[in-house]
Amino acid sequence: MTKLPSLRESILQHLRYSFGKDPEHAILEDWRMAVSYAVRDRITDAWINATHRTYDTGAKRVYYLSMEFLIGRLLEDGIVNLELVDEARAVLAEFGKDYQAVLADEPDAALGNGGLGRLAACFLESLSTLGCPAHGYGIRYEHGLFRQSFVDGRQVEMPEHWLEQRHAWEFERPEVRYRVGFGGHVDTRGETVRWYPAEEVEAEAFDTPVVGWKGRWANTLRLWSGRAIHPFDLDRFNHGDYAGAAQPEALARTISRVLYPDDTTEQGKELRLKQEYFLTCAALRDILRRFNNQFGDLRKLPAKVAIQLNDTHPAIAGPELVRVLHDERGLPFDDALEIAQGCLSYTNHTLLPEALEAWDESLFGRLLPRHIQLIDRIDATHAARNPSRQQSMRADHQVKMGQLSFVMAHKVNGVSALHTDLMKSTVFSELHRLHPDRIVNQTNGVTPRRWLLGCNPRLASLITESIGEAWVDDLDQLTRLEPNVQDAAWLDRYAQVKRDNKVDLANWMARHHGVHVDPDMLFDVQIKRLHEYKRQHLNILETIALWSEIRDNPEAGWTPRLKLFAGKAAPGYFFAKDIIRLINDAAAVINADPVTAPYLKVAFLPNYNVSLAERLVPAADLSEQISTAGKEASGTGNMKFALNGAPTVGTLDGANVEIREHVGAENFFLFGMTAEEVMERRHVDGHAWRAIEADPRLRRALDLIRDGRFSPQDPGRYHGITGNLEGPDYFLVCSDFTDYWRAQREVDAAFADRSRWSRMAAWNTARSGWFSSDRTIRGYMADIWNAQSLIGA
Ligand SMILES: *Cc1c(COP(=O)(O)O)cnc(C)c1O
Repeated sequence: MTKLPSLRESILQHLRYSFGKDPEHAILEDWRMAVSYAVRDRITDAWINATHRTYDTGAKRVYYLSMEFLIGRLLEDGIVNLELVDEARAVLAEFGKDYQAVLADEPDAALGNGGLGRLAACFLESLSTLGCPAHGYGIRYEHGLFRQSFVDGRQVEMPEHWLEQRHAWEFERPEVRYRVGFGGHVDTRGETVRWYPAEEVEAEAFDTPVVGWKGRWANTLRLWSGRAIHPFDLDRFNHGDYAGAAQPEALARTISRVLYPDDTTEQGKELRLKQEYFLTCAALRDILRRFNNQFGDLRKLPAKVAIQLNDTHPAIAGPELVRVLHDERGLPFDDALEIAQGCLSYTNHTLLPEALEAWDESLFGRLLPRHIQLIDRIDATHAARNPSRQQSMRADHQVKMGQLSFVMAHKVNGVSALHTDLMKSTVFSELHRLHPDRIVNQTNGVTPRRWLLGCNPRLASLITESIGEAWVDDLDQLTRLEPNVQDAAWLDRYAQVKRDNKVDLANWMARHHGVHVDPDMLFDVQIKRLHEYKRQHLNILETIALWSEIRDNPEAGWTPRLKLFAGKAAPGYFFAKDIIRLINDAAAVINADPVTAPYLKVAFLPNYNVSLAERLVPAADLSEQISTAGKEASGTGNMKFALNGAPTVGTLDGANVEIREHVGAENFFLFGMTAEEVMERRHVDGHAWRAIEADPRLRRALDLIRDGRFSPQDPGRYHGITGNLEGPDYFLVCSDFTDYWRAQREVDAAFADRSRWSRMAAWNTARSGWFSSDRTIRGYMADIWNAQSLIGA
């Protein structure tokens, strides 16, 4: 291995020789790129070493297939994991550059919608920290999740261009290209079946190294980009058809052009199915090529290859693997099926019916004519082996991707204890009865490198000073803080960390958003995708009710509160966009009210993404996790907040249940119906009206909205929302309102007692170690993948 020069030397060399600048003329982007390349060189050494070790040991490899990787910025992650923070800061300071400004110059790689994509990114980092040989496979979208801004309170979407600025982290692999076909026909000659696609595009690999803690290991994120097989039609050009000449390239690139911006409704669009097959087909070709080079004997595939499907989006991997093994490599169908099942496992992320993927069979059959035949055969085989089976994966002229994934996987997992139980009792009840050992739980986690050490350096230092640094990759060690939590002097320091973080956020909000807040207020934070099930409208209803109550009685000793919101709505989800607008409209009225101003402020920060989350989480006092019980599969935002010392006000939903068990019921503000009660309440006639009649505060808040108090020029603007809440109220906002109000007043009382509050907050930190994604990945390695760590091997 080459010996690298000092970080300072590396940065200056890259500035000069990679970017052609001297320090006097370098702009911020040059500095950001030079620092990134200097850090990348160090990661690259770890990466190449890890690859050698994996080949040398012949170890089993894990392949994580995901349509989304919500990565965020990578420079700080690299610097933190290589423990170069002080050095990098010092070098930049020497040249008069601000470390934070250099970090912030990097665009967020937003190749995901929300929790599912962020989980994939945390998993990659933990896989590297644990030294488990792994690849992430995804799509290199030219445009990630849209940029959000507000015009008159309304969400406006703008395209996102992360690749327009220079990007430091990827290595283009022009030699790694595969053809991906669509459409065409299937030719059957006796036992020999061949698919002749009508259309083909090429998938080209771009690799990003993902480094783990202390640079002990690095894995690869391989993203596929679409390109034409014959990019330029010279004949058409020579005939004067200049636009037509470039058309093949434009069409092929469409496939990796944009991320679908909707995480909860399945739209059945042809391009989306093409994207799913594009990712899966290229990934499997790559996996099999690597396996062939090293091992050859296809029957060993399950011993050497574990393929995890992140939700059903890559579910076509089942029939595709069978197709390659059977049609192309000539294995008997039953053997191909068994080998594929031995490799594949599937993570379910949602029970929401509107999110369960089901493809129209005519579209599916037109695009993937051989795969639909194989799915029918897989389904028939499964039915024959399980005569009591009722449900087919080919019902209603559709292909049901959840059932297909379940049948093709040797393990199926949910993402929290409650969610896994509900999988067994609801969507997968029949398949669970037939395969009682297949469903397992792996409660989600978050990486403590990004979500504590990186984003909250003050708290990280206090922890390291108190218990040493071993917590960074052994987060259970945080329980060793428990004696400190009893110590008043230590608690004061813990409280000072939070206060300093809040001052930073307040200054940033004033500078960048013109929002002026007092850092001594309770920072009450709800940041996540906008969705009815996540119930941002419950939060704003309570805010409006609180505002009314403070106006009635301003001298009643209110706990000053800042209600902070952030989150994007899918562009076609009009109800969610109305909720955003209502929050912005209500904020304008409430923030302008001099009577309530000392006690209540509301702000909705635009363009929620990973970097904004990293700014908000360390400064939060209270974490809003208020979904309708049974609807949030796990949540991971809830874990980031608990870890950073923000107690939760929340329902018994997803991983909230486990967070409450770990931090203790006395350090968690519980409210609302259980999942079971929710299912019963839905059948009670007029449940919303009953709740409204019983609670004058709720009545008044709804009246204010309906009568146009927040939209005086357009009083009917929110009749869609009030009509829904007073009518069907499927997500039971009204039925949970009264108990939510009660819990919030308990929060007020607890926060008013500062030492009590600090104790609760610190207790949340001390007891959140279990929510490390290292623990989650260890669970997958042991229970699902049968994979080993190569660190120390
Ligand atoms: C953690 C995270 C999420 C997931 O948040 P939930 O509250 O679990 O829905 C979504 N988006 C971003 C940017 C995140 O960092």
